[in-house]
Amino acid sequence: MKENIKTLVDALVAERNLPDEGLRALIEAESEDAAYLRARGGEVCESVYGKAVYLRGLVEFTNYCKNDCFYCGLRRSNRECERYRLTEEEVLDCAIRGYELGFRTVVLQGGEDGGFSDESVVSVVRKIKESCPDTAVTLSIGERDADKYQAFFDAGADRYLLREETASPEHYSKLHPPELSLERRLDCLYELKRIGFQVGCGFMVGAPYQTTGDIIADLRFMQKFKPHMLGIGPFIPHKSTPFRDFPAGSVEMTLNLLAISRIMLPEVLLPATTALGTASDRGREDGLLAGANVIMPNLSPAPVRSKYLLYDGKLCTGDEAAESVRLMERRIESAGRYVDWGRGDFAGMGENK
Ligand code: SF4
Repeated sequence: MKENIKTLVDALVAERNLPDEGLRALIEAESEDAAYLRARGGEVCESVYGKAVYLRGLVEFTNYCKNDCFYCGLRRSNRECERYRLTEEEVLDCAIRGYELGFRTVVLQGGEDGGFSDESVVSVVRKIKESCPDTAVTLSIGERDADKYQAFFDAGADRYLLREETASPEHYSKLHPPELSLERRLDCLYELKRIGFQVGCGFMVGAPYQTTGDIIADLRFMQKFKPHMLGIGPFIPHKSTPFRDFPAGSVEMTLNLLAISRIMLPEVLLPATTALGTASDRGREDGLLAGANVIMPNLSPAPVRSKYLLYDGKLCTGDEAAESVRLMERRIESAGRYVDWGRGDFAGMGENK
């Protein structure tokens, strides 16, 4: 291992910060250097959360979306996407099934779909909280006006995921059509935090046109925003998007970034994402070893799972949720960890305001 990498990692652990050049060296670290960085990421995670891994039951309730992000298989211009939208009752059924399996967080994820109204979101959140009172409800349904976010919160939603995907305005404009702006995205994130949600942001690794400088900007934004949750996954191309011919992002760099983020924000809730599991067989286990502590098994009804294709080859089994959970538990144990069936709230509650 290069001595300077060890020095940089140790300084990052001590200071939770490094100058840009130090971050660049760690983002691009390879072999033994990367192994040292990831092992330290795993240690920092264990010092805060022990060996616990939290499960979030994911319900992908609509794949309609009014937006046209260039990287996403659900974009409105993708005529090959077979669209579906669950009813309120179906969403509630999924949440209750997850609750019976032991989940204490349900994540309702969907495109920006005007056909599933904000009133329906409020109604379904209320019903889930009535039926499963000790369950945290996380929403991941994109940009809304502040009054709508407030209504979701008042209905009982606890957390909100909204990945900015890149914190560099120039890079953002290469991934999105002109009607979408980074400024609006970040305004939404700050509004969610002001309202009182536990908030998750995040970015893609290896997205088209991304430079290491852009990734450093992502880390700087993360430091400033101090999210409660952070989603980092490799870019994976989808065949029906303008980015179909770009290469996938690097699993190795994604693992480095999980470790760096864990060390910079020790309390953050950090998933080993499905994209990481899709890009590499051992992706999620390696993610846990590098400092991740959350996994999000799919609770969507089996017949619609294969239709929520953000990118090609997305991991989705036809297994019933119960079977998937047993398999996931075994994988988590193979990484030397165990499933904590609690709500798994952010360890620094009261901070990150
Ligand atoms: S990334 Fe989100 S907002 Fe953009 S097209 Fe896909 S589902 Fe819609």
